[in-house]
Amino acid sequence: MSTGKINVAVENIFPLIKKFLYSDHEIFLRELISNATDATTKLQHLSSLGEIKGDLGAQHIEIKIDKKGKKLHVIDQGIGMTEEEVQKYINEVAFSGAEEFLEQYKDSAKDSGIIGHFGLGFYSAFMVSEKVEIITKSHKDGPASRWVCDGSPEYTLELADKTTRGTEIILHIDKDSKEFLEEARINELLNKYNKFMPIPIKFGTREETLPLPKDAAKDAKAETITVDNFINNPDPAWTKKPADLKEDDYKSFYRELYPMQFEEPLFNIHLNVDYPFNLTGILYFPKLNNDLNVQKDRIQLYQNQVFVTDNVEGIVPEFLTLLRGVIDSPDIPLNVSRSYLQADGAVKKISNYITKKVADKLSSLFKKDRKGFEEKWNDIKVVIEYGMLSEDKFFDKAESFALFPTTDGEFFTFKELQETIKDTQTDKDDKLIILYASNAEDQHSYITQAKNKGYKVLLLDSPIIGHLIQKLEGSKENISFVRVDGDTAENLIKKEEATLSKLSEKEQEDLKPIIEAVVKEGGYTVQLEAMDSQALPFVLTQPEFMRRMKEMQQTGGGGMMMGNMPDMYNLVVNTNHELTNEILTTKTEKKRVRLIQQALDLAKLSQNLLKGEALTQFIQRSVDLIK
Ligand code: ADP
Repeated sequence: MSTGKINVAVENIFPLIKKFLYSDHEIFLRELISNATDATTKLQHLSSLGEIKGDLGAQHIEIKIDKKGKKLHVIDQGIGMTEEEVQKYINEVAFSGAEEFLEQYKDSAKDSGIIGHFGLGFYSAFMVSEKVEIITKSHKDGPASRWVCDGSPEYTLELADKTTRGTEIILHIDKDSKEFLEEARINELLNKYNKFMPIPIKFGTREETLPLPKDAAKDAKAETITVDNFINNPDPAWTKKPADLKEDDYKSFYRELYPMQFEEPLFNIHLNVDYPFNLTGILYFPKLNNDLNVQKDRIQLYQNQVFVTDNVEGIVPEFLTLLRGVIDSPDIPLNVSRSYLQADGAVKKISNYITKKVADKLSSLFKKDRKGFEEKWNDIKVVIEYGMLSEDKFFDKAESFALFPTTDGEFFTFKELQETIKDTQTDKDDKLIILYASNAEDQHSYITQAKNKGYKVLLLDSPIIGHLIQKLEGSKENISFVRVDGDTAENLIKKEEATLSKLSEKEQEDLKPIIEAVVKEGGYTVQLEAMDSQALPFVLTQPEFMRRMKEMQQTGGGGMMMGNMPDMYNLVVNTNHELTNEILTTKTEKKRVRLIQQALDLAKLSQNLLKGEALTQFIQRSVDLIK
């Protein structure tokens, strides 16, 4: 037996390892299983080269809990190590790796989420153990060795009597880490980190009921047998060629990834590159609603089938974090902070590649089956609109598939929309006026009026649409979006013949102050307009510009501080409506006030603004009027 002292520069490295990233102690298991996997694949490689004779048989890795002995075993049948190799790889190389890592990151670790996902390798075993043993026998001839270290820099290395090839790591779990002696906890970790690792991982056994033979007697009891419990799927779908997978394979892989998710994904995108970087993966478009925040962090990042994190911020563009699925790449550096990651050249390329793939897929889905695409639009539009807003390259590509639905369920691309309304919806400067509603229910009466005039009204109801509209107006010539209840709305649109007012100028001059006096509490700006006689007598509109500023402020854009802006409404009085004429000609003051109030309340009602006491009064007044 030999003893020695690990060559440490930082004397107190072990306490450091223990303290390091307290919440991430659990990664030790992933690190040890990764080493076991490497050792096994190396052996398979040597065998395929003919350097190891004979059949290797089925290889697996085993995890065993010895609760009584307070030990956790990780056992592989891989290449193993000779005594010299233990000396070299464990005492020198592995250690210097851990030391270097700690030196470099102990300060920055706190403020960068991703560092915790970067392993310390073998030495992370000391985060949860008071003593670690390695019993290993190399594939080369020679006796087995046993290395023991109790967390001080001293170790012992001696001969062992292990006769089979491979390595067994025995962790003597320390008293603060007892959770790792619980089967449920280990199961959870295996499921999280090792579910798709390439070598089968055995953990305990399970009961399996054998199917009864066809000719079994009626009262025959099904036989149960105990079988090895393998926890992983070593060949997950993303490692296969797209040509070898069917639609159902993608769906069942989705269920494997998200067992608690009952809704099927809308479609998937298989990523597969090997130059200039390595990346495989499958992304899924789930049905998305308008709440952006709750839906993030569902893409899982792997490195060679080892789970790293489900926070891919900085690696895929922000708008794609709404998708689900798996990305696997050995080329993503994990030992750096997120801000560095975003500046990293390789990561940038990866991010651009993914964006392009997603755009191409959307474009081909649109071309292949436009109707199907339109049906899905509502469930996918947030991602697309978010992408158009945040990535210019995506914005350009989206030209061919981004849809603009109308309140009647028609779908236009932007080009088609322009073409459709170019003769009917322009203002006096020939600017295209695109009318839209943000809520088909609330703005129903405005929508109906615009439609009655033959205008197309889009239904744009995503939370970020205000920002996107701004961007569209900025990037296209001569267009303007106006919400149906916006101040100028359809009156902006140039008509063949202007509607003439039935009231004389003198009458109009008299009318305005009369109305202003009654509605002054609401702070409305009163405007007289000659509208269709079929339109409402009074209409409330909200200046497009002000409303947008307010909305953008609410969704965190614009950067302008406007405090808590009050809502501002214009009260547009239709001078061609019969009721307006009546207001002007009514003899009694009392009746006139009532008519104005009633007309205002109707306008409010159609904006969904009539509430509380005002609503009660309206109902009472209405009852009085029909009595
Ligand atoms: P890394 O795996 O990043 O090289 P580790 O600290 O995890 O660093 O391991 C150091 C070295 O110890 C490995 O490169 C390998 O040579 C050896 N080693 C660790 N675990 C095993 C094992 N289960 N079987 C064979 N060799 C191993």
